[in-house]
Amino acid sequence: MNQSAARGTSGNKPRRIIGFDIDGVLTDEMVDGKNIWQREIEAYFPGIRLLEPDFAFTTAFGLSWEEVDRFMEEKAEEVFRKVKPHRGSREFVRFLQEAGFTVHLITARFPCYDKVTREWLACHGFRPDGLWFTDGKGALCKELGIELFVDDCYENCLDVRDHGVTALLMTAPHNLDRPEEKGIYRVSSWEDIKACVLEYYGLSGWDRGQMPGITAL
Ligand SMILES: [Mg+2]
Repeated sequence: MNQSAARGTSGNKPRRIIGFDIDGVLTDEMVDGKNIWQREIEAYFPGIRLLEPDFAFTTAFGLSWEEVDRFMEEKAEEVFRKVKPHRGSREFVRFLQEAGFTVHLITARFPCYDKVTREWLACHGFRPDGLWFTDGKGALCKELGIELFVDDCYENCLDVRDHGVTALLMTAPHNLDRPEEKGIYRVSSWEDIKACVLEYYGLSGWDRGQMPGITAL
């Protein structure tokens, strides 16, 4: 991310409202080198193999919508319950909140997964200021005053960017071929996310003791 994107400190009182996607951003979907959903789908549909990395299971595995619906109905909660958080995610979210940031989580999961999602968040130590279930992420980001949003879905990043919000695209197999665009910056880890967020808000000196009132991780 270049310096021109670092506009979060304009004015005397920065708002510092930030948002994160859950699946593929808070959650680490890779288990022993294979995506957790791929692993579960291959076990559920014997003989099924990944055709191409894609966000949609229909394209990725050649499944029908009916098959995807049946799989999600039977297995989604189990996956949502057992997936692990990305290393460093909880610590950095907590750091941001202690530094005065408002942190929203916006997921395209269906609202029927509210309970399992809240239980998973609590279990792993996330206490978001807001939790939202929608695939209209750009409009909601704008409504909430979010300045920076992290998602692994390229289309969501475009939507968010088109609503005037800076987007960080978390690298995943299904978005490797997507180009960086103005207002969309690629990150590959929570270390990258941390670096981009601190640069965006002009907090890069926090770890050198240059930011009074902000405690290092
Ligand atoms: Mg996601």
